[in-house]
Amino acid sequence: MSERNMHVPDELRCLDHAQPLTTGGGQIEDASVLTCASGCRVPVVNGIPRFVDSTNYASAFGLQWKKFKKTQLDSYTGTTISKDRLTRCFGGSLEVVRGKSVLEVGCGAGRFTELLLDAGANVFACDLSRAVEANYENCHQWPDYFVCQANALRVPVLPRSFDFVLCIGVIQHTPSPEETIAALAGYIKPGGTLVIDHYSPYYVQNFLQRNLRRILIRLPAPLAKPLTLGLARALLPLHRLSLKWVPKRGLWRLRAALLKHSPFLDYLELFPELGDQLMGEWSVLDTHDALTDYYKHLRTREQIEACLRSCGLVELEVSYGGNGVEARAKMPASAVAGSGL
Ligand SMILES: [Zn+2]
Repeated sequence: MSERNMHVPDELRCLDHAQPLTTGGGQIEDASVLTCASGCRVPVVNGIPRFVDSTNYASAFGLQWKKFKKTQLDSYTGTTISKDRLTRCFGGSLEVVRGKSVLEVGCGAGRFTELLLDAGANVFACDLSRAVEANYENCHQWPDYFVCQANALRVPVLPRSFDFVLCIGVIQHTPSPEETIAALAGYIKPGGTLVIDHYSPYYVQNFLQRNLRRILIRLPAPLAKPLTLGLARALLPLHRLSLKWVPKRGLWRLRAALLKHSPFLDYLELFPELGDQLMGEWSVLDTHDALTDYYKHLRTREQIEACLRSCGLVELEVSYGGNGVEARAKMPASAVAGSGL
């Protein structure tokens, strides 16, 4: 963390008074608090403003992203797995974000943040969990970058102030997807665009995954994490063996049975471009994700469409794809700028 680049973005506001926040001079990383004129004091911890504390339903994600802070970054894997997904969500090109303001809610370790920055966007990133620390480590070298720890329902910004609001891989894990989408819609400028995705009812879990998750989400995150990672790491060699040994002996059914019943999310054949070691790491990471996410909502394309419409959004493009349903929608240009109404 040697470079200190983060400036206070124009859109940043305190939660109580919707007033600008300042460091009192200097970079955010050097400050211990941000203050508003009416007396709000937002702590800056490890260089990052914190609008929530870290003990919340997303704490398992925070632990996960710290541990695997680079695993899913294209810049680390040398692949375009994250870029392909993001580009598709934006409708085929990232050129649309060049020079635009993008609010990324649920930024995680930065697999999409780095791509937005690389595409020339001015990025305001936030996450409910301590994943913001991994995000900062991965992205702070870009000049048009800001990250803070905040709740999707109360992002500390001026209403209707972003050209794009992006939230992918996140909404299904919040308490109420409809409330989250409504909050996200409130951050979009008139004429701006919302880009989201959501798990669909096609998301499947086998018996062991369902029941292990039921137990694991009731445990404290610091206990669930080593248990889940330990289990995933223990199963990885078995899955690797099944991939190499079983086909040679014509025992395809053994591998099929393992895939059907094991709680391990086996990506060993899904992303061959990652190579053996990274494919294992991704599988372990996503096994942890799928077994410890506190909320896991499923929505159909029609339900997402209805929700976007109820938020006053137009030009809806909603389809099944990626991890479930992918959607883009616009805030009408006639909406009132800077207003929450
Ligand atoms: Zn204030």
